[in-house]
Amino acid sequence: MQRSRKRKQAQFLLQSPLPIKSPSKPRKLITGSDEKHSAEPYPDHLRPTPEETLIVRDDLLTLHGFPKEFVKYRRPSSESPSGDLNGREDDGLNEKESVLDGLVSVILSQNTTDTNSHKAFSSLKSAFPTWEEVLAAESKCVEDTIRCGGLAPTKTACIKNMLSCLLERKGKLCFEYLRDMSTEEIKSELSKYKGIGPKTVACVLMFQLQRDDFPVDTHIFHIAKSIGWVPEFADIKKTYVHLNKRIPNELKFDLNCLMFTHGKLCPQCSKRGSNRLKTKFPFESCPLLNYRKALICDSGEMLTKSGNG
Ligand SMILES: [Zn+2]
Repeated sequence: MQRSRKRKQAQFLLQSPLPIKSPSKPRKLITGSDEKHSAEPYPDHLRPTPEETLIVRDDLLTLHGFPKEFVKYRRPSSESPSGDLNGREDDGLNEKESVLDGLVSVILSQNTTDTNSHKAFSSLKSAFPTWEEVLAAESKCVEDTIRCGGLAPTKTACIKNMLSCLLERKGKLCFEYLRDMSTEEIKSELSKYKGIGPKTVACVLMFQLQRDDFPVDTHIFHIAKSIGWVPEFADIKKTYVHLNKRIPNELKFDLNCLMFTHGKLCPQCSKRGSNRLKTKFPFESCPLLNYRKALICDSGEMLTKSGNG
């Protein structure tokens, strides 16, 4: 079984269009006002192909299983690969997290571990059971409850700004109205709030609002570059646009959760490098290694001739 997957992957690598040689600079400057061009930041870069995204999703799912922490957000319709659906719980979606709770969780998850961000969220909620109380509280008191998640003053300012802006615009602290909006309307609506950046919006779209969106964090950005899914010169914002255009909607959720998890666990794919990772994950079993090798061969960079001479 393992062997046949390897064969499938090797076959795919031979058939798939190899990464297009990147020009040293993007040919056109993309400006915010130029909607047409910002819609296709790398139109000549034909990867990932839909087939490739499916194989990577299946390979990572076989390797890691579906990450438990994301099971509750997984739509029952998520297409299942031939393999297992590790950790799948059909009733996960019944307990709906409020959009506002979700937004605050995403803000608290920045620049910290999952464990610490969950701790910070629980500690905040137990000290201030309602968002009205958070808004009314002294910043210092809020900071104290979320300190274990790091960047407490920044995150507190961010949350309080968002809450006061929400109260001013809608008269109550509730973001549920977003559920009735289109994805584009949600993006434009949330951009009006201080403290909510595009990455936070993408996470809320994917998790709480169950939209087909593919947020790009540093792990995913690093992997996408290293396996040639975006040009070498790509930046994170355009990588988000490019991947959202090219990854089939039905694969976005699973692939995103899996690439994120893989980026945290694999010494080869982690942005932090193998030295700082306390993981027992054997790097030889990284299913993305072949993509990297193919990329190195294609770009004409010396494929190290072992035992040279
Ligand atoms: Zn890896």
